[in-house]
Amino acid sequence: MSDLSDLYQQVILDHNRRPRNRGKLPTATRVAHGDNPTCGDQCSVYLVLDGDRIKDLSFDGSGCAISQASASLMTTQLKGKTAAEAQKLYDEFHHIVTTGEAPEEISDIAAFAGVHAFPARIKCATLGWHAALNALKGEDAAATTETHKD
Ligand code: ZN
Repeated sequence: MSDLSDLYQQVILDHNRRPRNRGKLPTATRVAHGDNPTCGDQCSVYLVLDGDRIKDLSFDGSGCAISQASASLMTTQLKGKTAAEAQKLYDEFHHIVTTGEAPEEISDIAAFAGVHAFPARIKCATLGWHAALNALKGEDAAATTETHKD
């Protein structure tokens, strides 16, 4: 069991040290911004959609290790997924971080199961995922970023 927690710890450290898909996507068709004021985390998610499918995505932001590692992991999980598949993965991830109940098979998202012991950090872990789902819901990109057009 401790080997498994070590492995999961490594997943988070690795995403934190070498974030995947980080930076703005110039070709993005959807953008959403999330922020978690209680911790000071910021996260923007950029999506390129092909119909209902996420063809490409990236994140950009700043904040604590949990928020940034989770956003990085999210981009690797959602690439190539449809909106429905993305929602399902988020539901699994949310279940893991709120209950600590990891699925039986080893999966990268289970690395965040330890977060459930720190309720204040759950918002850190879900921030990037929320931004991605908001981008997918197709609200006008301009309205969901920090740039407000009146
Ligand atoms: Zn945080």
